[in-house]
Amino acid sequence: MPIYEFRCAKCEHVQEIIVSSSDSENVEMKCNSCDGEVLERVLSTVSYAMGRSKGAPAPNKSIKSCGENTCGTINIPGPTR
Ligand SMILES: [Zn+2]
Repeated sequence: MPIYEFRCAKCEHVQEIIVSSSDSENVEMKCNSCDGEVLERVLSTVSYAMGRSKGAPAPNKSIKSCGENTCGTINIPGPTR
């Protein structure tokens, strides 16, 4: 089962939550720290930073996840030559 990281909108506590595919819409998500129920999915940027192949142009990826009320754009500048 995939494990996602979620960040609490209230206290910014980050925790990992296992989401089973068959149950993904019925998962009860609560902050372990403050019991808040508004959690934002955290997108890992590691794979984008590490996944640049040799000779490829500098990546300028936009990660966008517009769900209920989560909207984020991450731009990773490439190395300057
Ligand atoms: Zn919290």
